[in-house]
Amino acid sequence: PVRLRIAPSPTGEPHIGTAYIALFNLLLADKLGGEMILRIEDTDQKRSTPEAEERLLEALDWLKLEWTEGPDKGGPHAPYRQSERKDIYGGYVDRLLDEGHAFKCFCTAERLDMMRAAQRKAGQPPRYDGRCLRLSPEDVAKNEAEGIPHVVRMKIPEEGECRFTDMVHGDTAIGWSEVDMQVILKSDGMPTYHLANVVDDHLMGITHVARGEEWLSSVPKHIALYDYFGWEKPVFYHLPLLRNADRSKLSKRRNPTSLGWFADAGYLPEALVNYLGLFFISIGEGEEMMPREDLARHFAPDSLALAGAVFDLDRLNWLNGRWIRERTDAEGFVAMVRDWANTRGKMDEALKLAQSRVNRLSELGPLISFVFQADLGITRESFVAKKMTPEGSLDILTEVMGLIDTLPDWTAEAIEAGVRDAAEAKGLKLRDAVGPLFVAITGSQRSLPVFQSMALIGRAMCRYRLTQAIR
Ligand code: ATP
Ligand code: GLU
Repeated sequence: PVRLRIAPSPTGEPHIGTAYIALFNLLLADKLGGEMILRIEDTDQKRSTPEAEERLLEALDWLKLEWTEGPDKGGPHAPYRQSERKDIYGGYVDRLLDEGHAFKCFCTAERLDMMRAAQRKAGQPPRYDGRCLRLSPEDVAKNEAEGIPHVVRMKIPEEGECRFTDMVHGDTAIGWSEVDMQVILKSDGMPTYHLANVVDDHLMGITHVARGEEWLSSVPKHIALYDYFGWEKPVFYHLPLLRNADRSKLSKRRNPTSLGWFADAGYLPEALVNYLGLFFISIGEGEEMMPREDLARHFAPDSLALAGAVFDLDRLNWLNGRWIRERTDAEGFVAMVRDWANTRGKMDEALKLAQSRVNRLSELGPLISFVFQADLGITRESFVAKKMTPEGSLDILTEVMGLIDTLPDWTAEAIEAGVRDAAEAKGLKLRDAVGPLFVAITGSQRSLPVFQSMALIGRAMCRYRLTQAIR
């Protein structure tokens, strides 16, 4: 049977790229009469969080990008979360060690740093130099007896090149000299992405792997692993990344990339799926608006534009507008807006925060409108107009931007404490930091309490507002 998967890592906010890849997988599954499963790749335990996983599943649900097996649904290959499969990987690493396809590496971080620095200086790509490859079995036993920590690395053929066919990029050849002797098991016993990914794709019966182009250069490592184990290789599709018009990769530092932002900014899930699907189909001008079923009919996986998928927010806005006007009846629209306005209880919470700040209910509108907006029109000049120095303001806003990724809890208390620390680090009083923050987040110097407002609009919208204000 044809089986596909998405294998996102639960770090940060759910990424628009994940939806793009998931949609391709679903369309391909449809076309081939197969199914798509969801596997959570959380072997990087420092960056993975349960909150990120929950948000990811929610976001895919919102877009109706459905999977048939996964951590929430179970299935014949459970568990579907790699952190719960730790015991499975060890046996495969032992097998590679026993059969001479992998070796224990005792090199210290200091030595590896020095090695890489020397390689950089010589203009060579960073690559493990194979020192521990030459250790005798006695040396290895001695190091282990002394309790020196080690990782396990896979061996890489010494010469020649790895040839494979990618369904998007065609015949591809990568010299083995460009491929690193990848760490497959870390010193804490956790596998790395490459090993866990190949083992799980095999055990879970995956026949087709469709993922972002950034993994194309990793294919030789994966192919070597499939060959060492004697397993059948899947068919590969490496999809062009989502890019800006200037060809730079869509990135959360420059673009809204969080699926939560798209939901909060009022995009219809059908419109977003429609827009992403346009990268995978071939149609004429004027035929852009189509639901998922039609995307499936026009799906053309063999003729993707290699140059990249230019993600154009204006075009998405246009398509979203058409879905609102042409594909939504009045009753449905009203119900949809009600739901949207009260996502996560936003409307109720905004009203509670506003209660003590109005004399008449008619004053509520302007006071809470920022909660439901995406763009506030705040730029560098807005700070000058409000008699704040742009440099000082941008400085503190940049610091606060850092908090979006680092604060474990996005609550008013946690944000306040974070901003206080950030202000202190910059030698500012909290009061001076709060002025620019008010402007960037609410569009005005007097509004609902700013930390509560930040908690209310969420990480993704805060990141967007700060990016707009700083640029
Ligand atoms: P950023 O550059 O915004 O920090 P990132 O590369 O760190 O992004 P990750 O959190 O590593 O983002 O990626 C999450 C998922 O989104 C991954 O599966 C990745 O393949 C995918 N992804 C990230 N950027 C893009 C892109 N520009 N186009 C398509 N997919 C992307
Ligand atoms: N965990 C990887 C990611 O999030 C999966 C890549 C793959 O599909 O193999 O990008």
